[in-house]
Amino acid sequence: MKILFLGAHNAESKNTRLVSILIDNTLAIDTGCITSELSYAEQEKIKAILLTHGHYDHIRGVPTFAFNNYCSVTPVYATQPTLDMLASHLVDGIIYPKFTETTPMCDQRSLEFIPLQYHKKIKIADYQIVPFPMNHKIGAVGFEITDKQGKTIFISGDTGHGLSEIWKKIAPDVLVIEVTFPNSKEQTAIDAQHLCPKMLQNELKNFFNIHNYLPQIIVLHICPKLEKEIKKEIQDVSRELHHPIEIAYEGMIVSI
Ligand SMILES: [Zn+2]
Ligand SMILES: [Zn+2]
Repeated sequence: MKILFLGAHNAESKNTRLVSILIDNTLAIDTGCITSELSYAEQEKIKAILLTHGHYDHIRGVPTFAFNNYCSVTPVYATQPTLDMLASHLVDGIIYPKFTETTPMCDQRSLEFIPLQYHKKIKIADYQIVPFPMNHKIGAVGFEITDKQGKTIFISGDTGHGLSEIWKKIAPDVLVIEVTFPNSKEQTAIDAQHLCPKMLQNELKNFFNIHNYLPQIIVLHICPKLEKEIKKEIQDVSRELHHPIEIAYEGMIVSI
């Protein structure tokens, strides 16, 4: 499994992109920069889009992707609240055409919305995928993705603390987990349902207590303006846990 981080931050600038992860060039998880970071030929290889939740930094590439690839039908998998947000705010027939219906550009729809059920395994292309409800705003899910070789990645999407019940159900090779704020903004992280390094440490300790191992850990969704502080604190967590923690960056490739 090849995991390419196209966007690894929660804010966009010349040097930072919003969250998008590409699995084996064919499966897109979130769409923060799915069109700006991929050529047309690369976009055409995408077989399905999975969305963790309906916040703009994760869904914004859906209409631009549909606009670029209007003569093929791309399935978009997400929970119903996320699909509803897309339909009412972005792919709404006002801001962008309703790509889920036939558009004049091509005699067919270019998006198919497929609602996900929590905990219900589905097969997408060559992958077994299970969506887990995360501690974030309405309808947020994390994805457990297993390929044909049995390699498994878990992508948390945005989430707050309290993940032990999910840890009991997964045992991935790679854990991609968000950290948005530094420890100095712990209360903001709690209020906005995100994580800071201190909270990450607690979640990872709980994971270890359940499984007696820690997977390869990659952190993303970092707030760029606070990145220096967050990186230092994540290094401290890594030292405390005696386990490496990588920080995702734009263009990072991980193979498992
Ligand atoms: Zn969010
Ligand atoms: Zn976000």
